[in-house]
Amino acid sequence: MNQVAIVSGKGGTGKTSVCASLVELAGNKVVADCDVEAPNLHLLLNFKELWRRDYYGSKTAVMNRDKCRQCGKCIDVCRFQAIKNFTINELKCEGCAACVYICPEQAIRIEDTVTGETVLSKSGAGLFSHARLKIGADGSGKLVTEVRKNASDNAAEEDLIIIDGSPGIACVVIASITGCNAILIVSEPTLSGEHDLGRVLDLADHFGIRALVCINKYDLNPEMACKIERYCKNRKAEVVGKIPFDRDVGTSISRGIPVINMPESKAGAAIREMWELLTKGGLLNENCHSNGR
Ligand code: SF4
Ligand code: SF4
Repeated sequence: MNQVAIVSGKGGTGKTSVCASLVELAGNKVVADCDVEAPNLHLLLNFKELWRRDYYGSKTAVMNRDKCRQCGKCIDVCRFQAIKNFTINELKCEGCAACVYICPEQAIRIEDTVTGETVLSKSGAGLFSHARLKIGADGSGKLVTEVRKNASDNAAEEDLIIIDGSPGIACVVIASITGCNAILIVSEPTLSGEHDLGRVLDLADHFGIRALVCINKYDLNPEMACKIERYCKNRKAEVVGKIPFDRDVGTSISRGIPVINMPESKAGAAIREMWELLTKGGLLNENCHSNGR
């Protein structure tokens, strides 16, 4: 099955709006929201949960008070100040196990902790794999991998898996893009947009993944958009779409629908054009996987 991740070098470029529209346009597909720390694709998809599973994302020390002799050694050894009054604060505990080793009474053990849940849902646009983290829990490459696995386990061979990735270049992004046929980078015509685009292109080069670029709201700064196009040409990254600024995007978000469902939308029309280029040009196909583009 083919996989494409929609990513961006920075937040706020319109990545998820573009992703939701591509999801609507694609035929056989399964969708994975791998922006696990700030998921919002679900706001634009009408969905119903099929199942949810606990996600064990960290390890925490647990104290057996019956065994504790209150010697205080665990308090002294904990460099995260997670133990106070012989009680472990699980929000502060990093699971390093130093207290386990130092306790003369074997009163502390390490346990896996539920930090969230993975969810499989059915949306109007097909199966939808996503996750919910508990407050204060960290997203991680492991959770992204779990969300992607739930998507691929439930996809047919002919399905396209569309991944809404995290912004940036951290491990959650790496986990979102590895093994993809292509990534579509949603950029914007600003100085920071260009800079952050470069960082994602470096990442794609490093992993030998085809990088495609779309410039969102390009007409807000046509000069910078041209500069980004030239930059992409030098980096051998194909610009597959230029989406104009369109107030319908904001309206569609407030209505909870993809912008391509707004009949008069200029942005929606540009996204449709981009999708045709991506599919007719076979840019998301397995045989287009390339090293160094
Ligand atoms: S090191 Fe063990 S016995 Fe000592 S205070 Fe901590 S839990 Fe209690
Ligand atoms: S596992 Fe490490 S961080 Fe957690 S309470 Fe023990 S010493 Fe502190």
